[in-house]
Amino acid sequence: MKLLFLGPPGAGKGTLAARAVDILGVPHISTGAIFRSAIAAQSELGLKVKAIIDAGKLVDDDTTIELVKERLSQADTQKGYILDGFPRTIPQAEALAAFSSIDKVINFDTPDSTVLERLGGRRVCRKCGYNFHAIFNKPKNENVCDHCSGEIYIRDDDRPEAVQKRLEVYRAQTAPLIDYYRQKGLIIDIDASPMVDVIVAEFRKVLGL
Ligand code: AMP
Repeated sequence: MKLLFLGPPGAGKGTLAARAVDILGVPHISTGAIFRSAIAAQSELGLKVKAIIDAGKLVDDDTTIELVKERLSQADTQKGYILDGFPRTIPQAEALAAFSSIDKVINFDTPDSTVLERLGGRRVCRKCGYNFHAIFNKPKNENVCDHCSGEIYIRDDDRPEAVQKRLEVYRAQTAPLIDYYRQKGLIIDIDASPMVDVIVAEFRKVLGL
């Protein structure tokens, strides 16, 4: 199954995707995670995108589209995938349509108050990318990932100034994709405000799993 996860930053896309990979047996492809790995590795791509990402802006379409096109050409995506954080603009969606079909788009319906609460407490494993929360989903040992023992950190773009910018960018450039995909009959709306177990149950239900 080829799925897109669409929603504002902090909607819980990555958290649900981490659970959905086991349910569906397909890879989770997060463009944000790919960019963060490139930054950590100080690769050419990482050096190019670091300042843009830290400021809460979008990486340019051409760079992002090339990256996803290359990733979707790999063998593990043939059975399907969960694309999280791509497309984020109409040109990205149009480019994607030219190189892959999509089965469904999960739209994470999330009020701004939930987004701010989640991003304000978000903690991420530097090694495996798993998301924790300082209050609602603490790791068992402070600063150590439950899953891979990696170091837990706060993303630079979860600082308040960057969060405001990311929300603005989401509304201006990404939210129009909801109508774009609704017109194609692909959107499934899910209420992303409850805790993750409730969202996982809803996800199974809407996909008939
Ligand atoms: P995320 O982990 O999805 O919140 O992404 C983190 C950051 O990576 C975003 O704020 C953007 O700067 C960049 N990014 C991720 N996906 C895209 C995309 N599809 N297009 C442009 N920039 C992206």
